Amino acid sequence: MLSSISITLICLSLATPASPAPTSSFALRPRQLHSFPTYDDIFSCPAASWPPVSIGDLLTPQLPDHELQKILAEIDPARIEAIIASLASFGTRHTLSSQTDPVRGVGAARDWIAEQMRSFAAASEGQMEVTVPSYVQPPDGDRILFPVRISDVVATLRGSVDPDRHYVVSGHYDTRCSDPNDFECDAPGADDDASGVAVSMELARIMATRRPAATIVFAAVAGEEQALYGSQYLARSYKNASVNVQGMFTNDIIGSSTADDGTKDPYTVRLFAQGSPTTESAAMARVRATIGGENDSAARELARFVVGVAENNYTQMNIAVVYHYAHQHQNTRVEKGKQYGDLIDFVDFEYIARVGRVNGAALWSLANAPASPRNVTVNTTLLSNNSQFQWLASNESLLAGYEILWRPTDAPFWTHAMPLGKVKTATIGLSKDNVIFGIRAVGRNGYGSPASFPFPG
Ligand SMILES: [Zn+2]
Repeated sequence: MLSSISITLICLSLATPASPAPTSSFALRPRQLHSFPTYDDIFSCPAASWPPVSIGDLLTPQLPDHELQKILAEIDPARIEAIIASLASFGTRHTLSSQTDPVRGVGAARDWIAEQMRSFAAASEGQMEVTVPSYVQPPDGDRILFPVRISDVVATLRGSVDPDRHYVVSGHYDTRCSDPNDFECDAPGADDDASGVAVSMELARIMATRRPAATIVFAAVAGEEQALYGSQYLARSYKNASVNVQGMFTNDIIGSSTADDGTKDPYTVRLFAQGSPTTESAAMARVRATIGGENDSAARELARFVVGVAENNYTQMNIAVVYHYAHQHQNTRVEKGKQYGDLIDFVDFEYIARVGRVNGAALWSLANAPASPRNVTVNTTLLSNNSQFQWLASNESLLAGYEILWRPTDAPFWTHAMPLGKVKTATIGLSKDNVIFGIRAVGRNGYGSPASFPFPG
C-alpha cells in the first residue's frame, strides 16, 4: 500500500538568512493528555450490558530511543539549504528540459542527486545501493510532447534483519512554471519539490551508516508535474518484482511554514492519509462497510502510527492528520500552506528539518519494529460481549509479542492498549460493537508496528 507524506514550504533568503525559530515556542498539542476519552466516556452508552471494566491502559506515545534521538539531532537545516540551493541552480528541472547539458536542466539535476546519493552510500559499507532506473515515456497527448526518458534516483539501504520488508520515502525533483509544458522558462522549484528531495537526501546521508532491521528506500522521482510518471514507474517496478513495500511517504512542497493568508504555523505538518483503498475488491469493500472499517485502511493505520512515534519534543512537530484522499495525486500527502513562487527565498530550512525529523522518526520506527500482524480476523459469530481474534503466527526474530489496541468508534486515534504476549489468538472482554480494534506486533526493542485492522473471519 502506498501512503505518503508531502508538504509545502517557504521562507528564508540566502542573502539575509532568517534566524531560526526559537524552539521554545514549540508546544506539543495535548492530544495524548486531554483529547482521549476516559473509560466512562467509552462505556457511558446506557445499552452497555457490562459494568465498566478496567482492562488495558491508556495508550502512550512511543518516544525515540537513544539512537533515534541521535538520528533526529543530525538532521541539519544548513545541509538542507545547500541541497535546495544546488537543485535550484539548475535553472529548470522540467521533465522535457535537457538531459545532456551539464549545467542546466533535468539531466544535470538527476546526475547531481545520484552523485550525492553515491557519496552517502560510500559510507554504508556496501549496505546502501544507488540506482537510476528509467524508461522512455512516449507522448501522451497532454504534458509529454515528445518521447522522453524518465529517471528516478533510488538509494536502497538494505535491512539487516528483514531485508524483504521495504519502507519508502520520496520527493520529486522535476519542476514546472505556470505553463506545464514550457520546458525553457526558469523553474527553480525550491519548495516544489526540492524541499521533499532534500528530506530524502538528508535522511539517506544520516541513515547510510546505520543498520535498520528492515529496508529503507530514499527516492527522488521525476515526471511528477507531467502526470506522476516517475513515482508510478517506481511503484510499478516494485509491484512487478513482488517487493514487499509496507509503507511509503511522499514529501511534496514541505518548504513553507507560512500559509497563503500569511499565518505562520512552523510546528505543524499536514499528513494526508487515504481511506478505503481504491484497489480493494468490491467484495472486500462491502465487508469493510458492514463492519465500519472505512476509517481503518492501511494508510490510516500508518498515519496513526506516525502520530504515535513522530509527534513529540524530539521532532518538535505537531502532526495534523487529514483523512482525505487527493485524487489528482493518488498519494496520501502532507502539505503545509501554499506555494507563492518557487524561489529559495521563500523556503524555511528549519521547518523542512523538522518535517525531515517527522519522516526520520516514522521510517526508523517502522524499519526497526516487527512487521504488522497478517491475516488478522475477528470472530463475528461470537454472540457475547467478548471479542475473539486470531492472526498468522510470525517467527520473526525481532518479535516479542502482540498488543491489542482499541478506540471508541468515533475517535480518530487509538486510545487504549493491552499486551497479549506471543500468541496468535486472543479473547478480550470488550464488545466489537462498541470499540474499534487493531492488533500490532511489538519488538524486543519495544518498537511497535502499525496496527492491523481485523476483518471478519
Ligand atoms: Zn510537487
